[in-house]
Amino acid sequence: MVALLVGLLLSLLKSQLYALQTFAGEDSELSRVIYVMDSNLSKRLITHVETNGEKLVALTFDDGPDPLYTNDVLEILEKYNIKATFFVVGENAQAHPELIRREIDAGHEIENHTYTHADLSRANAAGTEEEIKKTDALLGRMLNRNMKYFRPPKKLFRPETIDIAERNGYQTVLWTICVENAQSPTPQAMAKRVIDAARPGMIILAHDGRLDRSKTLLALPIIIKAYQEQGYQFVTLDELLKTSDA
Ligand SMILES: [Zn+2]
Repeated sequence: MVALLVGLLLSLLKSQLYALQTFAGEDSELSRVIYVMDSNLSKRLITHVETNGEKLVALTFDDGPDPLYTNDVLEILEKYNIKATFFVVGENAQAHPELIRREIDAGHEIENHTYTHADLSRANAAGTEEEIKKTDALLGRMLNRNMKYFRPPKKLFRPETIDIAERNGYQTVLWTICVENAQSPTPQAMAKRVIDAARPGMIILAHDGRLDRSKTLLALPIIIKAYQEQGYQFVTLDELLKTSDA
């Protein structure tokens, strides 16, 4: 009886948590809440990396490729000699293979952000698997490596989403901080918030598609310069995660 009540309470709390995430959307950083609530789940969700103090961070971009922003992002990355990680939406990659080619040729990492930018908290298991597999198959033909990391759009997912990703060879990766944030109305405010939060092993999320990202383009050079001046090195997600295995 007690076990039943505890179970009921836990499932109620969980459903509230997912509701909270739905409300907060892509710009929030509620993953820590999941940590506390479900320690088993947290071990399988990456939000930052332990680098033993090494000043390494990963800059990641979601929602592209998008002809309005991806070229500009690539030019900024080239100017500061940085390798980044692009969590691409499959249908955008399908529409703009030339941008994917440019990302690959510049040495950036490409990872999986579903095929249609679907809300996976509402998708069934088959639908979730299809979202992951369609992008995997499409990009598999363009890349000469298997993609390894999966990021659910807007941080909306169910615990089984992580199981499905793992079954398909993917580790689920969220982020430490998001450049675009409701509390940061200007590029300067966006940059300051990310610069103030600097610490080794961070996974920084920015966007190169879907919505107006013109402020992101202005914030990025400020962030990159400040991090580099503090001795941080930008590496791809795979490189960052390898340091934690060492
Ligand atoms: Zn997204």
